[in-house]
Amino acid sequence: MRTAEVVIVGGGIVGASIAYHLTAAGCRDVLMVERETHQGKGSTGKSMGGVRAQFSTPVNIRMSLYSIPFYASFEERLGYPCDYRPQGYLFCATSPAQMNYLSANYEKQVELGLKGVRLVSAGEIRGLYPQLRADDIVGGSFCGTDGFVDPYSAMVGFTQQAQEHGAQLWRDTEVTGIAFDEKGICAVETTRERVSTRVVVNAAGAWAAQLAKLAGVDLPVEPLRRMLVPTEPFADFPHTAPMIIDMSNGFHFRPEALGFLLAWADPEETPGYKFDFDPGFIEKVLTRAASRVPIFENVAVNPKRAWAGLYEMTPDHHPILGAVPEAPGLYLANGFSGHGVMHAPATGKVLSDLILHGATELIDAGLLSYTRFAEDRLIHESAVL
Ligand SMILES: Cc1cc2nc3c(=O)[nH]c(=O)nc-3n(C[C@H](O)[C@H](O)[C@H](O)COP(=O)(O)OP(=O)(O)OC[C@H]3O[C@@H](n4cnc5c(N)ncnc54)[C@H](O)[C@@H]3O)c2cc1C
Repeated sequence: MRTAEVVIVGGGIVGASIAYHLTAAGCRDVLMVERETHQGKGSTGKSMGGVRAQFSTPVNIRMSLYSIPFYASFEERLGYPCDYRPQGYLFCATSPAQMNYLSANYEKQVELGLKGVRLVSAGEIRGLYPQLRADDIVGGSFCGTDGFVDPYSAMVGFTQQAQEHGAQLWRDTEVTGIAFDEKGICAVETTRERVSTRVVVNAAGAWAAQLAKLAGVDLPVEPLRRMLVPTEPFADFPHTAPMIIDMSNGFHFRPEALGFLLAWADPEETPGYKFDFDPGFIEKVLTRAASRVPIFENVAVNPKRAWAGLYEMTPDHHPILGAVPEAPGLYLANGFSGHGVMHAPATGKVLSDLILHGATELIDAGLLSYTRFAEDRLIHESAVL
């Protein structure tokens, strides 16, 4: 029977980063199992690629403080590009309460060691981007090391390095069962063959709860559709712009190729495996786009180029990382709630540390443990886009 020290279920950016970090730490007998014929068909290939450290909770900030420098040196470390573009994130506050919130976050970010984040005045925002309607903007915060990466490229880079150091990737193979003996997990059933292992990592993205069920574990991770609308080429707004967030309604946009990528979290969206792009979303996002950037009023979009993907949501918008006491050998790397690309490097390091050493110095892993739900220790992140 095939054996592996660690089986990682899911070949998206999170599974790939875990494989990379495990092999880099010397654990070479790693098997990644991906049910699709190609990697990246889950959320990784649908992402907006934004990376930021401007969060409100220390644990999210710490995850970014590992991940963003990692992306900045990705090509040096892995010999493969991830197209990190440090163009920043600019949060635009439209009320004193929002500005107070940004100021409080700024204090925490600086205290934890984030450099390059600063509060900006309404006047500065107006001066930088006169195309924005700024009558209600009271100020904002900007961090120049935030920006964008190419998630697909990063996933491939992680996978290739992991493979060069001994990891194997089975594509077109689904994990269909998890078997236990008196010590804990002893094997996984797959559509290819049974694999004997003591460690299984759930990196199954929006399908994480289904995978956990195979081990008898109830995981509070729900799929939630998110849609993105790319514009046709548009030259009247600078392409050096950061991700700009209108805090009055959550609309945000960033440059992409010759156009812009428009995003907004529709509060009417309900959980479920919905993969179709809803054409009605275009008007909703364009209304908000034109309200903040009046020259977007006539921007052209091609509905055929718009797409939908799934966020993996947890009740407190934080990931669930680490071991599950009632299922010895099962490790979780799930529920990124829209931040799985930006936190993939830190997740790989944390999971590798927990699997190989039982502890990590990168974060207080207990904060993100599975047991926080039963113990009523939720930690809410409000800076969710
Ligand atoms: C529209 C959109 C915009 C986003 N924007 C951002 C952003 O700007 N920044 C950011 O950080 N994040 C963003 N995200 C979120 C981010 O894309 C995800 O959090 C991240 O890709 C999760 O990676 P993953 O590897 O966990 O999941 P996935 O990429 O979904 O990979 C999971 C894999 O597991 C496989 N799988 C599932 N079950 C099984 C099984 N039983 N056996 C074998 N294989 C299995 C699936 O086929 C899939 O390939 C966005 C997401 C969407 C949809």
